Amino acid sequence: MKDRCFSKTNLLTRVQALDTILQSLNPLKGTEQQSLKNALGRVLAESVYSPINIPPERNAAMDGYAFSRHEIKQNQPFSLNQVGISWAGKPFKGSLAAGECVRIFTGAVVPKTVDTVIMQERVKAVNDTINFPKDCVPLDNIRQMGEDIQQHACLLAAGKKLTAVDLGLLASAGIHSVTLRRKLRVAYFSTGDELVTLGQPLQSGQIYDSNRYLLHGLLTDAILDVVDKGVIADDKNLLEQTLYSAAKNYDVIITTGGASVGDADYIKEILEKIGQVNFWKVAMKPGKPVAFGHINDCVFFGLPGNPVSVVATFDQLVKPALGKLSGLQSLTPLKISARCDCSLKKLKGREEYQRGILQQQSDESFIVTSAGGQESNILSAMSRANCYIVLPADNTGVQKGDTVWVQPFDHYI
Ligand code: AMP
Ligand code: MG
Repeated sequence: MKDRCFSKTNLLTRVQALDTILQSLNPLKGTEQQSLKNALGRVLAESVYSPINIPPERNAAMDGYAFSRHEIKQNQPFSLNQVGISWAGKPFKGSLAAGECVRIFTGAVVPKTVDTVIMQERVKAVNDTINFPKDCVPLDNIRQMGEDIQQHACLLAAGKKLTAVDLGLLASAGIHSVTLRRKLRVAYFSTGDELVTLGQPLQSGQIYDSNRYLLHGLLTDAILDVVDKGVIADDKNLLEQTLYSAAKNYDVIITTGGASVGDADYIKEILEKIGQVNFWKVAMKPGKPVAFGHINDCVFFGLPGNPVSVVATFDQLVKPALGKLSGLQSLTPLKISARCDCSLKKLKGREEYQRGILQQQSDESFIVTSAGGQESNILSAMSRANCYIVLPADNTGVQKGDTVWVQPFDHYI
């Protein structure tokens, strides 16, 4: 049997569609300076170089006793006289003569002639006489100046989305503000006469609008400034006005519904009239009726109406586009192979993103099973799922025990 949605039309593959999108987009201009605490999850506009060595000075990696390696006697225990203490933040100011050591704590600066620290658990202290064992290792337990980052080395490259660890790294170099890409301005709305906003009772023929809540979640990201434009009825003039005016104020518009070929599906027609359609329809399932284009400088995505298709097209096509517009270093979705624990139906034609539940077994191998109903309106199965099972276009079904490719949700490398 053939996939009816695939026949006749020459659809773009998902890879071709993504290439078309990425090639037509450039990172938006505009930067801003922000303090570190306002920079989490934002994209660096410029590479950052370290003004200092990290660590700035040699220091102890352990609580213990510090001395020169020349004090160590080969295969013999030895004793040294403790002449002071080097605290973290309060270094020992003096210098050490032969036969002397200092008590030292983790992070404390190591005195000049000292190059070895022995951990406190390995010594016996009798008043100021410190007895060391015979197997002390020269140069042990010292953190060298600049061993983490050399002065002037690149700390973080432009295009990095800043993580908690990055904020810590920048702070360790004394950097308190960074130049960031400006946030993308994104507007989204749902289309459909049948849609009811939450809080109102359903009349016959109506359904609640789930897509705006999906998109609210999918678009919650520090790189975006997002505005929900509500539900717009299947009214050609109203849709056209809404799109036209939103295109003046936003970098990106995302709509759901009305992108197919029904009599009330106006999105493509309007986009052709007031902008440009780069493509419409992609050979992926779910998510065939997806439109990409421009209205003047504004980037437009017309996603399908069915909620599962919204998430799949967002993940595969929109998310990489938002990344490129934001100047983000490109990221690839993590893909792993797993043994399929059930059979899966699939017709030749479109690449499929079936929803699956991935588990790791006691031998650490991965096993995946279907999350349930694979129709594009079955959001409950997608809610149970934790991954896509990615089936290539020419696949004609999976038998239990076959190896399949799996994309865990929200994992990028
Ligand atoms: P359409 O592409 O407008 O024909 O929509 C396809 C299917 O998705 C129809 O069954 C719609 O009722 C449904 N749909 C469209 N928009 C939404 C939405 N915002 N929330 C839930 N379902 C929707
Ligand atoms: Mg509709």
